[in-house]
Amino acid sequence: MRATTAAFPACRFASGCERRQIARMTLSSRISTRVAIACVCIAGLTVGACAGVSAGAAAGSSAAAAVTTLPVLDSARLLGDLFRLSHDSMGGRPVGSPGNAKARTWLVSELKRIGVEPVAGTFEHPFASLRRIGSDSVRGVNVLGMVRGRSAAAKTIVVSAHYDHVPVRNGQIYNGADDNASGTAAVLQMAAYFNANRPEHTMIFALWDAEEVGLVGARAFVAKPPVPLAGIVANVNLDMVARGDKGELYAAGASPYPQMRPVLESLVPDAAVTLRLGHDSGGGQNDWTNQSDQGAFNAAKIPFVYFGVEDHPDYHQPTDDPEKVNGKFYYGAARTIAAFVARLDRAALVWPARN
Ligand SMILES: [Zn+2]
Repeated sequence: MRATTAAFPACRFASGCERRQIARMTLSSRISTRVAIACVCIAGLTVGACAGVSAGAAAGSSAAAAVTTLPVLDSARLLGDLFRLSHDSMGGRPVGSPGNAKARTWLVSELKRIGVEPVAGTFEHPFASLRRIGSDSVRGVNVLGMVRGRSAAAKTIVVSAHYDHVPVRNGQIYNGADDNASGTAAVLQMAAYFNANRPEHTMIFALWDAEEVGLVGARAFVAKPPVPLAGIVANVNLDMVARGDKGELYAAGASPYPQMRPVLESLVPDAAVTLRLGHDSGGGQNDWTNQSDQGAFNAAKIPFVYFGVEDHPDYHQPTDDPEKVNGKFYYGAARTIAAFVARLDRAALVWPARN
């Protein structure tokens, strides 16, 4: 999701929203089209980054220094992974589907390649999903990897995104490029970054299954945590981070958890995108507190920050395709979130223990 109600996004599908029919291409032509677009976007990132540095250097402004304070991620892999996860061959990755299993197998292989540790001996953490096919309960599987922290006193930060999306409807695949191949690929890049730049806290990189049927994977993690809940200082959750049509990324969580506010506000001037705080109070549709997996942590009174963009016309439509992603915004958002996690890692060292 993000869902607009506390229930399921099915209400969105039933709302009678118009769905644009996308032109059906052959698989081979679609693959070649996407590869070509990915290359263009990646080239665009390079051009954009170079332009930004030169402009800052020429002006002697603090902007150039600010750019260097953000973690450098692998932009080509970030965007390539988003394209891979939202390819038609993944079938939209709905829980319990062959495409979901294919995505999961690949995610596990990536965590192994990156070099992070499994959690409690395994990368795959199954649970019973709420969704049923016929009379059979569908199994969901969270994918978890871990980097051990340097500080003996430090506890755990959970950095997360859901990798599932919604099923094929009327023969159309809902590829879920923004929702939430974007968050998934960004979490992989943060796993790589913090594996190479070891944090103070232990970090669990969690890729949730079955979010779209009610935050079921994240709820399963909180119900049977592989580490004590009291030792989890925060959840940083990403859901829809690649489509900042106005260049804006929202961070929710500072209202219910004010210890997050100074960390977020210190990042605003350094962010590579327009970072706005909000969508975390008042209830209703504009309060995103419980509209993605961070809701499971909030229910357990675990502080969270949720990163995401405003809804867009392709939200929960078959047109949420990778070609629509703004590559420069996406890379900037990923770097900004990685910088937040790095600052949170330091700030949380002096937070009092939760009860
Ligand atoms: Zn989502």
